Amino acid sequence: MKNENIVVLKELLFRKKNIVIIPHTNPDGDAIGSSLALMHLLNSIDHNSTVISPNKAPYFLKWSPGFENIIYFDSDKNSCLKLIENADLIFTLDFNDLDRIGEMSKYVDSSNAKIILIDHHLNPKDYADLVFSDIEIGSTCELLFELIIELGHEKNIDSNIASCLYLGMMTDTGSFQYSSVTSRTHEIISKLIQKGINQSDIHNKVYNNSSISRLKVLGSALSNLNVLKELNTVYMYLKRDDLKKFDFQKGDSEGIVNYGLSLKNIIFSVMFIEDINDENNIKISFRSQDGFSCNEFANKHFNGGGHANAAGGRDDGPIEETIHKFKKLINKYKDNLTTNK
Ligand code: 5GP
Ligand code: MN
Repeated sequence: MKNENIVVLKELLFRKKNIVIIPHTNPDGDAIGSSLALMHLLNSIDHNSTVISPNKAPYFLKWSPGFENIIYFDSDKNSCLKLIENADLIFTLDFNDLDRIGEMSKYVDSSNAKIILIDHHLNPKDYADLVFSDIEIGSTCELLFELIIELGHEKNIDSNIASCLYLGMMTDTGSFQYSSVTSRTHEIISKLIQKGINQSDIHNKVYNNSSISRLKVLGSALSNLNVLKELNTVYMYLKRDDLKKFDFQKGDSEGIVNYGLSLKNIIFSVMFIEDINDENNIKISFRSQDGFSCNEFANKHFNGGGHANAAGGRDDGPIEETIHKFKKLINKYKDNLTTNK
């Protein structure tokens, strides 16, 4: 972390400030965990901070300390605009491009507040006044922990902040299985346990709290699984009619794409999901292992991005056309998908 940036941030936080903290659209555990951890930390040192999420978060994050204080731009625009207008500082967490907060981006971009980016995605765009970006770190929560230490506030990390940080570290590393996990990650977990988190309880609240709809959606995705054997690739899809039939709730489809990688020899797994309200809006998730870059593929062909091994994107649909387009494109990557193994 650049020392001079820490000094600048310390100065910005020297006097009481009105602060807005923004996670990305469709926030995940890392986005919500880092945003709430930062909110608690800033409020503990006498700032007035609020988390504004562009839209709703999945139900399995509801237990997070402070979740009930989050304000949602899509359902409470006026309150959000007031907060943004009065903000001295705006922190953007767990994303690298203002496009990731949708309509909110224009208000953030034109606000007088200083913008501080804290993130671990590849290729951060140049929109912030102060940038804390480290693409080697497995989660924004881990990066935020390091930042809190550098700011000299380790003693302010209570069990609530520690739980929020653990949430993002756990969810963004597939429960500590990905190669982004280091000995430092485990050192930090050790410190969070000393701060009083109950890691087994957090795991259960996130992963063993499924609605019946989630399992039905999982079943539907798995029954729509297609293997492109010669490309070491699988794809799945979820149709809007099925989502409706299963009483789909936000979050139900999260992580299902990872099942594709559990198959022997598969290095690229893709999930296509029709928006429940708009069949011409297809959300796509990409996961890979070995050297295949999801981020580049998503960015080049599907208006998206993310990390080397986990990325997202979208397409206009209809879903049959999106899948057809994908199947045509993927053939061109045969060398990358076979020689990288
Ligand atoms: P997921 O497939 O779980 O939605 O997203 C996987 C990763 O890609 C996450 O790190 C997420 O932040 C990123 N991501 C998802 N959708 C998009 C997108 O539309 N644009 C960009 N740039 N990144 C995305
Ligand atoms: Mn993240």
